[in-house]
Amino acid sequence: MHSVIQAGDTIADIMQRAPVAQLEARILIGHVTQLSRVQLITHSERQLNLAEAQQLSRLFEQRLAGEPIAYLIGEREFYGLSFDVTPAVLIPRPDTELLVELALQYLPPQGRVLDMGTGSGAIAIAIAHTRSDASVIALDVSEQALVIAQGNAKKNNAQVNFLRSDWFSALENQHFDLIVSNPPYIVAGDTHLSEGDLRFEPVDALTDHANGLSALQIISQGATSYLKPDGWLLMEHGYDQAAAVRQLLSENRFEEVQSWRDLAGIERVSGGKKSRP
Ligand code: GLN
Repeated sequence: MHSVIQAGDTIADIMQRAPVAQLEARILIGHVTQLSRVQLITHSERQLNLAEAQQLSRLFEQRLAGEPIAYLIGEREFYGLSFDVTPAVLIPRPDTELLVELALQYLPPQGRVLDMGTGSGAIAIAIAHTRSDASVIALDVSEQALVIAQGNAKKNNAQVNFLRSDWFSALENQHFDLIVSNPPYIVAGDTHLSEGDLRFEPVDALTDHANGLSALQIISQGATSYLKPDGWLLMEHGYDQAAAVRQLLSENRFEEVQSWRDLAGIERVSGGKKSRP
């Protein structure tokens, strides 16, 4: 038997027989029928038509094959905003909201912010959406990612200037009050890369194909030339990289070098202030 879902099945039937977790089934049925979470309950006797049944069967199969829910519905919430996602960009993580919180804290009024490796644009857009006084530039090496990010800025009514750049390469002589980044930091060959959602995400956004620190190192070093005196650099990193990142920051003469813990209590973001000349 290939397809468990047929035209004429009601939402209630399908919820009972769904081959995936109930929460996921609800999200996928809602996506196919365009019904809200409440409507799925109040319209539980609504029958699926043939096209909906076929689409839902396919989504269940894809989910069973491990594809992330966010890619299946093309969307993920981050910082209270909705972001379009495709396999060209990393799925925004709740952990990364810590980086946004800190950025908002360290950004002076009318500040200039640079987001390096913006992907879906989640960090830059969350900042710009919250702080309309800020001037936000976001860059990525991936043209495909920039298309998604631009769409997300528009969708969320956020003013962000996007730039295609391999780290600092396309930046002119300009200076920022704050540089933020969630760069690829997973070590090459880490088993997480071949497990769960990560298998479906863009590998170049996850790993530096080296020791996990090379992008963090490039950014720490380059940022010293692109920050104003007293400007801050804040970077997300892996659960076991905080000490190494603090060392990179100290080697590059950052001051007030420190790390912050995410909701799980893990040191997830490290940063420092550019020293005065
Ligand atoms: N935090 C992500 C994970 O562990 C990795 C994101 C990244 O490499 N920047 O899945």
